[in-house]
Amino acid sequence: MASPKAHDWIMDMAPYVPGRSKVEGVEEVVKLSSNESVFGASPKAVEAFKDTAGGLMRYPDANSNDLRDAIADVYNLNADNIICGAGSDELLTLLIHTFAGPGDEVIYSQYGFMVYPIQTRAVGATGIAVPNKNWAADVDGILEAVTSDTKLVFVDNPNNPTGAYNTWSEIERLHAGLPDSVILVLDAAYAECVTADDYNAGESLVEKYDNVIMTRTFSKMYALAGLRVGWAYGAPGIIDVINRVRMPFNVCVPGQPAAIEAVKDEEHLQASVEFNTTWRDWLTAELNALGLKAVESQTNFVLVEFPDESKSALACNEFLTKRGYLVRALPPLPNHLRISIGSEEQNKGVIALIKEFLG
Ligand code: PMP
Repeated sequence: MASPKAHDWIMDMAPYVPGRSKVEGVEEVVKLSSNESVFGASPKAVEAFKDTAGGLMRYPDANSNDLRDAIADVYNLNADNIICGAGSDELLTLLIHTFAGPGDEVIYSQYGFMVYPIQTRAVGATGIAVPNKNWAADVDGILEAVTSDTKLVFVDNPNNPTGAYNTWSEIERLHAGLPDSVILVLDAAYAECVTADDYNAGESLVEKYDNVIMTRTFSKMYALAGLRVGWAYGAPGIIDVINRVRMPFNVCVPGQPAAIEAVKDEEHLQASVEFNTTWRDWLTAELNALGLKAVESQTNFVLVEFPDESKSALACNEFLTKRGYLVRALPPLPNHLRISIGSEEQNKGVIALIKEFLG
């Protein structure tokens, strides 16, 4: 009897493995594995979320109109060219599903956000992983990899899992070298964390060219990961196409007003960023002082390299896990761990444990 069968390329895929949040035998874990923000969301966003409880029988506004207006107002953008999604994951996924298929190529960095290779495989397109340069995207490597089959180029800037970034002039150079038919996706999930002066998330390129889209999220510095709200600012032609294929009610009833209050609360965002910068600098310095190599980060996590097999990243990960500290081990980078910024106590706790591990 014939049974349902997916495309072969789907059967070759492994499901996404998220950061762990539980350890057997440990009652309360310290989760530093998913780049969430312990600083927490704006109290005004939390209030707005609670206020929606009475209206949950309703569908949300299908076009997230008020949210798009609020984002446009705060970031000085044209609301018509903004699209909201169930996390930026949804928008990144839709870009691949809309613009690529079998026979097409999608370019990204070898060490970069996992959603790009996963979704590229899901549509049967070919992923081209270009080795990183100084842990960020290698502009020349990407330009060399472009062929007549290339449909999309993804740059997570700053990069997850490395934390490194590309300067704005590098991004402009990358765009200038791409054919008009290739979409440049600037995934700026960590844009709010960036303190470097020569960084730009991408608005000005979006406004000048038909082949650029920038994606953003409320999951990181706005600390609303649980509500799944993201947005993108793109050339009108790209936004129009994604709007045709997305699910109509993609941003939930509690998510829209909470994100509106979050984006309007600029004071809270600034405090969140200051907290993140302080502890990112501290964590980086402490890891380096322990003789490890921390990659300079512009995000809310730090990637750190362990020296040798006797004191390996995997052994350290096991040591931390047993003690209830969850950080991220990354199979493509077996000598490294990615540690998200936690509270003061959590940051001090993870450093004390790594010190103990190193002996
Ligand atoms: N892009 C990058 C680079 C990320 O690290 C993440 C979250 N891990 C996302 C996009 C997606 O975030 P969300 O779907 O929560 O908006």
